[in-house]
This record gives sequence, structure tokens and C-alpha cells, in this order.
Amino acid sequence: MVSREWLVVSKIEALIVLTTLPLTTPPLTTHKYTKQLEENMQIEWIESQFFHTDKIANEMIIIHHTGSNNGRINSLQGTISWFKPDVWRSTRQVSAQYIIARDLRPIIQMVKDEHTAWHAGRSSWEINGVLRENLNNRSIGIELQGDGQLFRYSDFQYDALIWLVKQKMEQFNIPIELVRGHEEITPRKPDPGQLFDWDRLKQGLASVTAPGSDIPAFDDSLDTDGDGIIYLDETDDVKLPSGKDRTIVESILDFFAGLFK
Ligand SMILES: [Zn+2]
Repeated sequence: MVSREWLVVSKIEALIVLTTLPLTTPPLTTHKYTKQLEENMQIEWIESQFFHTDKIANEMIIIHHTGSNNGRINSLQGTISWFKPDVWRSTRQVSAQYIIARDLRPIIQMVKDEHTAWHAGRSSWEINGVLRENLNNRSIGIELQGDGQLFRYSDFQYDALIWLVKQKMEQFNIPIELVRGHEEITPRKPDPGQLFDWDRLKQGLASVTAPGSDIPAFDDSLDTDGDGIIYLDETDDVKLPSGKDRTIVESILDFFAGLFK
């Protein structure tokens, strides 16, 4: 028998004992961003012709909507074909790094982060105390399919946006203050519109833990049978402090290796 103290000290291993018993969790009453949702997030690459290679830095994230026509939201395919027309257009050359459709499907990426997409146009914002203009080459553009003046965005769009913005904030060290709407950097523009819920985005970002901090501390209240072991779903991957993903099987093997040292 292994002492409880030993397991508490080795909390990482102690948390990862194989079982098929599910954790008993109360049903969600409202839609909430959760770590489980991240497993469904994917990005599909469809290259736009419309970009420059003059990117200075990714200092801002700018949120847009794709708009509507006669009360109908512009189609995803329509937006893709604006960014990647079959026939080269000499006018209205536009693009953005990402498009998030209303329903569950991959996020679409059309311009690389390190390239300049053409979404911000004439625009200005103060970045680190300096007023910058024409922000395309200092920003990542994200299009939400919809029209935030007329329609609410979908749960999937908020989840995908939180997931994507979180990644880009961490990757490029972008503070939340520099995640802005097109309407803020170009006041004549309407997007993402008054129906975009900025609080929901910010709360979602705040609810997501930083990388490496998602190893739960040993929590006695979860140890229902008092044996010093908390059961996790066997399909969960476990992140170790190194940030390297390890499968639960690897972690369990380590756990038993530790016992018999
Ligand atoms: Zn816009």
C-alpha cells in the first residue's frame, strides 16, 4: 500500500490512474467555453492570392464580420471567393488571415500570420504609445461570418474565436487591449457590430488557463473514496509542466515505475 503522503507529493502521477469511471459533473445549464471544446477546433488552409510580405509585426488582432445582403448573411463560400477569386479581380482585393463560419466546421485560414492580409484598410490605433496607421502589416484579421448589426453570432463562433485569439495572443505576446474591432480602428466601418459580445470574448479568454498551468492541484474533495487517487477520464491527455503532451498511458507507466523504484 502506498502512503497518501507519497501520492500527494507526486500529484502529477497520482492524478492519472486509469479508470473508465466518469467524473460526476453537474450538467451545463448555459453554454460555456470549456477545454473539451478545444478538441473540436481545427484550421483548414485555403490560400488567398491577396497578401503582401511586408508584415512588420503581429501587434494587434482585428475582428471583422463578413456582412449581409438584404437581411441574409453572406455565405462562407462567397467570402472565400472574395479572398480567392477564380478570376483575378483588379478591384476590391481583400483578404484576412482567418474566417470563422457560423456553424461547426474548421476555422479557415487564407493568409499566413507572417504575411500582411488586406482587411484593415485605412485605419489607426495607438500601439505601445505610438499612433500607427494602416494596420494591415501590424495585425491579424479574423472574419466572423455574419452581420453584427443585425444578427447575434453563434456559440461556435465565440468558442472558435476564444480558442484562436488565445493562441495568437500567446504566440505573439499581444495584450487583450490590442484585440479590437474594425469599427474601432476605422470608425466608418460597422463591424463586428453592436451585437458582438465583447464581454463574452474577454470572459472566455480569462477563463482559459495559461499553458502548463492546467495541471490540477490535488483536490481532496474529488477524492471520493479517500484512497488518495483522483480518477480522470481515460481518454484525457495530460499536460506536464514541460508543456509536452503525453498520453495517459505514458503517464500511468511512469506512475507505476515510480512506485517500484
Ligand atoms: Zn471589417
